Amino acid sequence: MKDYPRIVVAPPGPKAREIVTRQDRWASTSYPKEYPLVIARGERAMVEDVDGNRYLDFMAGIAVASTGYGHPTVVRAIQEAAGRFLHICGSDFYFEGFAALCERLAKLAPGPSKKRVFLANSGTEAVEGAIKLVRHATGRPALIAFLGAFHGRTYGGLSLTASKAVQRAGFAPFLPEVHHVPYGYRYRCDYCRGEPACTMRCVTVLEDELFAKKVDPQSVAAIFVEPIQGEGGYVVPPPGYLKALRELCDRHGILLVCDEVQSGIGRTGKMFACEYEGIEPDVVLAAKGLGSGMPIGAIMAKESVMRWRPGAHGSTFGGNPVCCAAALATLDVVERELLPNVVKLGERLLAGTRRLQEKYAAIGDVRGRGLMIGVEFVKDRATREPAPEIPHELVARAFRKGLLLLGAGKSTLRLAPPLVVDEDDVDTALRIIDECLDELD
Ligand SMILES: *Cc1c(COP(=O)(O)O)cnc(C)c1O
Repeated sequence: MKDYPRIVVAPPGPKAREIVTRQDRWASTSYPKEYPLVIARGERAMVEDVDGNRYLDFMAGIAVASTGYGHPTVVRAIQEAAGRFLHICGSDFYFEGFAALCERLAKLAPGPSKKRVFLANSGTEAVEGAIKLVRHATGRPALIAFLGAFHGRTYGGLSLTASKAVQRAGFAPFLPEVHHVPYGYRYRCDYCRGEPACTMRCVTVLEDELFAKKVDPQSVAAIFVEPIQGEGGYVVPPPGYLKALRELCDRHGILLVCDEVQSGIGRTGKMFACEYEGIEPDVVLAAKGLGSGMPIGAIMAKESVMRWRPGAHGSTFGGNPVCCAAALATLDVVERELLPNVVKLGERLLAGTRRLQEKYAAIGDVRGRGLMIGVEFVKDRATREPAPEIPHELVARAFRKGLLLLGAGKSTLRLAPPLVVDEDDVDTALRIIDECLDELD
């Protein structure tokens, strides 16, 4: 028997309340705040709070704690690297970990072309660098992104982001020449309504509408796409979607950038989610799961694209030696131990959520790959009207029962546990979600 979940005092307990009050008083008011979890320590997929409550984590610090908490291989690599040197600046000097991580990621990036790698500190910084790279490589100004997309919070990334209006409100003007089009959101696709099957109109509309009426395709540097939309609601596009985008890009000399900041590094059962479609993007971005929690992001680009001259782009901290060590160890663990686990446990979790869908009419859609699964709630299955209060209340209830969850999009629950979960963890999570939904019914 596992010693978690275990609630010994209703959260937030006394110690947690003190820290919550302090943080709320002194930290920026902009932090979204999900629920009053105050972590003290963690182990694998278990998180313990300051009052001794133990939780089963099915959100992994927003899909970041890929190898779970305190994986010995990762912790040892971090400790050893920290003992040698904390900084030198890989943009200007050399060290083995930087060379090794660039080589490793270049070889892991999908497709046969030789790649080069830029190391950054975060997902947003990887997106930001990619925006500069695609403009520099093509000499074209325009960028295409999708409604529902999340690409980060700085001005370039935020200009591409269109997942929640609050994230943009009050921050205009944004980067010019950014065009948003609908994503391949099968469950809410206006194009396919009434059609027997997907017509892939969400891709052809770029040609027939955007390029025909508004944007010269010769002015477009890149299409930025999440192979599975993350913050937008764990939305899996229809089969063939990325291939169709790849072909569209090739017709017009547009670069295809796959933002795998959330979907990459084993989360979906392959190293990168776009591998499921067998395409080769021109640029791939990774960050969240890459360092098991240490801040690191990466731009992997075809060598033919990443040809900017020395001084064109750099980063003081990007590819920090401790973060490089964490990333190399994470890649070892994911490649050697976790990919088959993600596939196996992902199937178990998906099957379990489908059973819940049969039981509860409020579950309109279940979708996902590997351990990246979205459960979308509706008021009515016929109208598909979103029911945002259900995942909201479900997340709050699950927290009080010792299960850490997170919403995504308007009315979706995202399931993104550390990749080290086992069958017992999956069954426990499903049982608690079932209990919560039963109470809400
Ligand atoms: C989280 C996320 C980002 C931003 O990453 P940060 O590390 O928070 O800057 C960018 N793109 C995607 C797809 C993400 O999920």
